[in-house]
Amino acid sequence: MTRCCWCGQTVHVPLTVSGVFSFSRLTPEARCQSCARKLVWIDPEIACPGCSRSQKTAEWCMDCLKWKKQYPHKDFSHIALYVYEGLFREWLQAYKFKGDYRLASFFRSDLRQAIRSLKPIDIIIPIPVSEASLRKRGFNQVEGLLEAASIPFLPVLEHIGRGKKQSEKKRAERLNSPQPFQIKEAFKEKIKNKRVLIVDDVYTTGRTIFHAREVLEKEKTAQIQTLTLAR
Ligand SMILES: [Zn+2]
Ligand SMILES: [Zn+2]
Repeated sequence: MTRCCWCGQTVHVPLTVSGVFSFSRLTPEARCQSCARKLVWIDPEIACPGCSRSQKTAEWCMDCLKWKKQYPHKDFSHIALYVYEGLFREWLQAYKFKGDYRLASFFRSDLRQAIRSLKPIDIIIPIPVSEASLRKRGFNQVEGLLEAASIPFLPVLEHIGRGKKQSEKKRAERLNSPQPFQIKEAFKEKIKNKRVLIVDDVYTTGRTIFHAREVLEKEKTAQIQTLTLAR
């Protein structure tokens, strides 16, 4: 019997006929139905095609139009799964900021499903955290999510930024923050001509994702897709 890693309720696994046969290939949910219902899913039909911001229509949002100006030759279409509010916010607070590693599995089946629905990927690259955050929390929260979902990844990027964390900055400071990432020497050859997926927990201004894209593009990756749990 599995219990919801957030609220402790029993997780019921529906055993349909097809379920019985495909059971071993499914990732059992680590959260109950009532928690799942409290999450607000982003409907791609009415989200910004550039960043998945939940809107009334699928038009490019103001933020993305600015990114297009800044990166005119880049194609981007970020995927985010949930709206950053309510239970998602509470979960992130407990998992990332309080450092409760057991909550990493809350989104494991979403992550696996989302990655299966993308274009083919050779390497999955998590956004790294600073040395200071790593010492404080004890783990990289993005790697934690991938590990909990048994998704293989390569820690290609390293965080070399100093000063405040993105989450402590005001919006203007975030947008103007300098490049905090570099590629670890050992991975430079491995990513050439590869199709990569960058994974992070939340997309806020897009600054972090575009910084990561920038350093990877310099190393001639073949294609870059980006995914976060929330926007
Ligand atoms: Zn629950
Ligand atoms: Zn957008």
